[in-house]
Amino acid sequence: MESHESGPHFDLVRELDDSDGCEVWAQWKTGREPSTLALLRDCPANNGAPGGANEACVLFAGHPGGHSYEFTDPEYDAIRDGGTRGP
Ligand SMILES: [Zn+2]
Repeated sequence: MESHESGPHFDLVRELDDSDGCEVWAQWKTGREPSTLALLRDCPANNGAPGGANEACVLFAGHPGGHSYEFTDPEYDAIRDGGTRGP
């Protein structure tokens, strides 16, 4: 997600196989540990590009900031590519 200083903050916890377009997100306030899990509907936006260049937003509906395809998110790229965090 695009960097922002004021909360609340969100991070994707789990992608669900059979979720009817929803994923599990953690939510927390600035300076606090994640305190809430929420099932949020996927953002319906996409970049409108034809064919294989089409990229859907991977965030939740109503998220703050730009859509995921408008900026680079190294954490999501690592998850999408099947990588693991750390050494
Ligand atoms: Zn979006």
